[in-house]
Amino acid sequence: MAPLKPWDELEPGGIVVPSEAAIPHTSGWRTGVKPAVDGAKCVNCLLCWLYCPDSAILLDGTTFAGFDYDHCKGCEICDEVCPVDAIEMVAEETVLPERGVR
Ligand code: SF4
Ligand code: SF4
Repeated sequence: MAPLKPWDELEPGGIVVPSEAAIPHTSGWRTGVKPAVDGAKCVNCLLCWLYCPDSAILLDGTTFAGFDYDHCKGCEICDEVCPVDAIEMVAEETVLPERGVR
């Protein structure tokens, strides 16, 4: 193995300039489905907010306010825990209001 170069002989590396870096949304992908909610059924229990592993449930103060689709992965946990069946998983292509409340 070739001997390692001393630090001052190394090639310059790349740098990331914060102001030029892409916003690190973690959801460039989703499972193929996304949640939508029937606002009239929601009883604001916030179980979806408590269980969502991606902090993708939006609140208005302490009131459920929909989904952050930039970070939602489509895991369906919110649909599983909602006690009043207000959440429905729909196909990714479904056109919804911005926060998924209908
Ligand atoms: S589908 Fe999963 S990631 Fe998306 S809002 Fe529901 S619990 Fe969160
Ligand atoms: S779990 Fe269902 S009822 Fe509870 S806040 Fe979420 S959408 Fe509303």
